[in-house]
Amino acid sequence: MGLGADQLEALAECIDLVNTGRRSLAGLSDEADELADVRGVMAFARRFRVENRSAVRATDAPRLRELRARLDAIVVACEAGREERAIRALNTLLAETGAVPRIVAHDGRPPHIHVSSATAPLADRIAAHSAMGLAELIVAGESSRVRTCASPQCDLAFLDLSRNQSRRYCDSRTCGNRIHVAAYRSRQSAAVSPVEVSPPAASRAAPASPAEVSPAEVSRAALGR
Ligand SMILES: [Zn+2]
Ligand SMILES: [Zn+2]
Repeated sequence: MGLGADQLEALAECIDLVNTGRRSLAGLSDEADELADVRGVMAFARRFRVENRSAVRATDAPRLRELRARLDAIVVACEAGREERAIRALNTLLAETGAVPRIVAHDGRPPHIHVSSATAPLADRIAAHSAMGLAELIVAGESSRVRTCASPQCDLAFLDLSRNQSRRYCDSRTCGNRIHVAAYRSRQSAAVSPVEVSPPAASRAAPASPAEVSPAEVSRAALGR
C-alpha cells in the first residue's frame, strides 16, 4: 500500500476514534463512552500525541463525539463502496474544521503535516487529522481497506493492511478465534442433527471430538438417517 507512516498514523487515530463510539454503542465494554468528558478527550489526545493539548475545553467532548459520528458514517460509506458520498462528507468535514496544511514538529517528533491550526478547538484538530487519514486512503485508491469486523459480537472498525485484503476480523486472536470456536460447535451440532446436514458439511464435521461423535454417527447423519 502506498501510504506513509504519517498517513497510517492518521488512519490509526481515525479507526481508534470511531471505535470509541462503536464500543460504547454496542455495549462491547462495561465502560461508558471514553469520550464522555474532557478527561477522556485528553487521554485520547495524549495517546495520539496531539499538539497543544492544554487548549482543551469542556465543549471539545460533545464536539468530538459529533465529529466522530460523522467519521464513522464516512467509514461505513467507504466500506459500502460509496466513495463519492465519503468524499463529499470528508470535504465538508475538512472545510468545517478549518483545515489548512502546515508543517510542524512537536513532542520530539520529526516534521510532519498538520491540517489544522494549533489554536483550532482540540476536537476539530483530532477530527481533521483523522479525516486526512481517510482522505489519503481514498486518494491512494485503497478505501476498501477500512472495514467492520466480521464477528457478529463485534462491531469494531479496522484497517486491513494485508496484501490481498483478506482480513475479516479486527483481531484474529479474539474475534477470529471466537468465530472459529462457534463454527466448530455448529459443525459439531450439525453432525448430530441430520435434518440440517448436507453430505459435504458432514464430512467436514468428521474431525469433531471422537468421544462425542462417532464416525458411524457422522456417516448416518450424512445419509440423513
Ligand atoms: Zn503532530
Ligand atoms: Zn472484532
